[in-house]
Amino acid sequence: MSFIPFHRPSIGEEEIIEVVATLRSGWLTTGPRTAQFENEFRQYVAAHHALAVNSCTAGLHLALAALKIGPGDEVITTPLTFCATVNAILQVGAIPVLCDVGSDGNIDPESIADRITERSRAIIPVHVGGLPCKMDAIWSLARRHHLSVVEDAAHAVGSYYRGEPIGAGSPQRGFESDVVAYSFYATKNLTTGEGGMVTTHDQPLLESMRSLCLHGISKDAWNRYGDHGNWFYEVRAQGFKYNLSDILSAIGIHQLRRQEEFIKVRTQYANLYHRTLADIPELELPPESSTCRHSWHLYIVRLNLGRLTIDRDEFIRALRQRNIGASVHFIPIPLHPYFAPYANLACNQCPRALELYPRMVSLPLYPAMSEEQVEYVANAVKDIICTARKTKTIAATNAVRQPRTAKLPLGISEAVP
Ligand SMILES: *Cc1c(COP(=O)(O)O)cnc(C)c1O
Repeated sequence: MSFIPFHRPSIGEEEIIEVVATLRSGWLTTGPRTAQFENEFRQYVAAHHALAVNSCTAGLHLALAALKIGPGDEVITTPLTFCATVNAILQVGAIPVLCDVGSDGNIDPESIADRITERSRAIIPVHVGGLPCKMDAIWSLARRHHLSVVEDAAHAVGSYYRGEPIGAGSPQRGFESDVVAYSFYATKNLTTGEGGMVTTHDQPLLESMRSLCLHGISKDAWNRYGDHGNWFYEVRAQGFKYNLSDILSAIGIHQLRRQEEFIKVRTQYANLYHRTLADIPELELPPESSTCRHSWHLYIVRLNLGRLTIDRDEFIRALRQRNIGASVHFIPIPLHPYFAPYANLACNQCPRALELYPRMVSLPLYPAMSEEQVEYVANAVKDIICTARKTKTIAATNAVRQPRTAKLPLGISEAVP
C-alpha cells in the first residue's frame, strides 16, 4: 500500500474552473463570489447572516471584538482545542479560563458552571472532531449568567445538534449562540485553502463584524468600488483586515455544494472503522451522540495504555511504518509553554483533558481515501494492537471486568483509566 497521508483535500474540476473564471473576471478580492458564498453558506447552516473571513481564527477574534469583550473580562473555553481558540481570547486582551472536558472529549457544562465568576463574559465551546457539544446546557448557563456564546465550529460544517445544523441554534426553544465561527483551512471538511465564515442571527452584531473585518470602515470594498461615483468612506473603529477574497470563495462555493456527499462518505468510512475496531478492549472508539449528526471531521480513538506494551507515540510510529499518517487532536492548551502561566493556575485545572491526551490518536478519514485504504488502516490498527497486547498476566485479563473504581493489583492500575 502506498503512503496514506493523514489528510488530502478533495478539489474537483468545478472548483478549478470557478477559480480560473474568477481570475479572468477582473474581480479578485471580496466581491460577487464572496457574496454568493456567504448567502449559500448561511442557508446551508440555517443562520440569518454570514460573513466570510480569511480564517476561523480571524472569525473568533472578530466575534469577541464585536461583542466588546476586552481587558479584565474572562472567556471560558476548553483545554482540548487548537491554540487559535485561546489566541483569539488573548488578542482582545481578555483572560482565557479553561475548564475540563467530559467523557466525550468536549467542554463539560458542569465544569463551565464551576468556572463562572462575575468577570465571565463568554463561553467558546469547540465541537471537537465534529461531535456537537452539549449546547442546551451551555445555552442555559449562558442565559442564567448573561454570557455570550461563540461557537468554535472549525470541525462542525455539516454537524447537526438535535436536528438543526450547527449555526441554526434551537429555533423551537429560542436558544442560539451569538456567533458561530467555521474554518475552511486546508485540512477541514470544507476547504478554501485558507478561509472561514462567521454566522449570526443578530443583525447589529453582523454589521459590527462586517465593519471590523475591513479596517473598521463604514462600507465594504464591494459597495465602495461597486459604485464608481462614490469614493467616500469613514473609519469608525479600530478594525482588522480579515475579508475573504473572491478567488477563495470560488473554491468554497463548489466545496459547499459537495458537503452532503462528503459527510455521507465520511460517515460510511467511520462506520467501517467502527465495525473493524469494535470489541477490542485495548481501544476505545470515538464517542457519538444519538441526538446529533457527527460531521466526522476527525476519527479519534483512545488507547487503553494499561493494556498495551507500547505508548501512543510508538503506536503512531508503527502506523507510519505501515505507510499510514496519523495525528493528535489536541495537545492540551496547558502544555504549551506560552499558555502555561494562564492554564496552570489552580482555577484552570483540567485533569480529564490531561488524562486523555497521551491516549488519543486521530486516524485518517476523508472522502479522498478509498474504501480499500480505510480497510487497510483499520486492519493495521488491529494488527498493531494485537502485537502490543499485554497478555502475559492473568491479573490484567481479570482487570477487564473490574469496575472503574476498583483497587487493582500494583502495576495494572492504569488498565482501567
Ligand atoms: C483549525 C482550527 C481553528 C483555526 O482555523 P483557521 O481557519 O486555520 O484559523 C480553530 N479552532 C479549531 C478547533 C481548529 O481545529
